[in-house]
Amino acid sequence: MQAWLLQSSPGDYTRGEIDPGPPGPGRVSVRVVASALNHMDLWLRLGMPKPRVLPMVPGCDAAGVVEAVGTGVSSWAPGDEVVVNPSFACGGCARCLADKSVHCPEWGIMGEHYPGAHAESVVVPAANLVRRPPGLSWEEAASYGLCGLTAYRMLERARLRSGERLLVVGAGGGVGAMAVALGARMGAEVLATSRSASKRQRALELGAREALPTGEDLRLQADVVVDSAGSATWQGSVRALAPGGRLVLCGATGGGRVELNLPRLFFSQHEVIGSTMGTFRQFAELTAMVADGLPVVVDSVHAWSRYPEALARLEAAEQFGKVVLSHSDLAAGRS
Ligand SMILES: [Zn+2]
Repeated sequence: MQAWLLQSSPGDYTRGEIDPGPPGPGRVSVRVVASALNHMDLWLRLGMPKPRVLPMVPGCDAAGVVEAVGTGVSSWAPGDEVVVNPSFACGGCARCLADKSVHCPEWGIMGEHYPGAHAESVVVPAANLVRRPPGLSWEEAASYGLCGLTAYRMLERARLRSGERLLVVGAGGGVGAMAVALGARMGAEVLATSRSASKRQRALELGAREALPTGEDLRLQADVVVDSAGSATWQGSVRALAPGGRLVLCGATGGGRVELNLPRLFFSQHEVIGSTMGTFRQFAELTAMVADGLPVVVDSVHAWSRYPEALARLEAAEQFGKVVLSHSDLAAGRS
């Protein structure tokens, strides 16, 4: 099959052919109709992280049609329209069964630890599929997985409650936009920051009560702060915590080392919470919310063959929401 491939790490993506083989036991082959970009696509090029196996297919988000199932798979059949939960796990161990699949020994992310979806097909665990929510375009269906799952688990880990004040730092990225929409839906008073005036306007449209420029002394007190930028925004995020506030972090794009003022932490009874991806239950709940109208923000759709152009848009950080590849040009090439 055709795929975008990373042949060396660090390196750059090239179009090539790769044979994923038939799906093994408990696995399903999905013909990808749309796949979305994530910052992982950029980091892989830099060799951070280095793929376990080369060549590596990038792509952490996908929606498509089941084309073949391995032995023991009874829940899916060829022709089913599905969305892939990129938080892979075995689905059968004690941790997976206890809603802790993010701690499964086989846990990993499609497009980081496992081959990704910027290809004709991708082979995934059967447990990682959900039905495509009705009413969503293929591009929307491919856009909520990684960022929505990450944001939803962050808000759960931070125990966000209705009526609390949520600050989303950097609302322009996929996780930030989803955190704004989810926070508003959960009944929180949502404040958002972004460097860009147009992105602040979009955050208001997603349900933020107020949108502020990034980097200002915010002079506010939030019960929960969602931050995916790391050291670049750390000080401002800590200062914005109300007494008893919870700061939840999922990324370090702006740097991974920070200084922690311990007296401030314990006297103010703050919590600093790490979070990554989410569980099968959380993906099912997120999908139900998306089916029920939770907004999915698609920034732009690019033909599969124009992946470099899509990467450039993500790299320029001009997007609001997800940058998506439509695989219709691949399908046209096959017919
Ligand atoms: Zn497991």
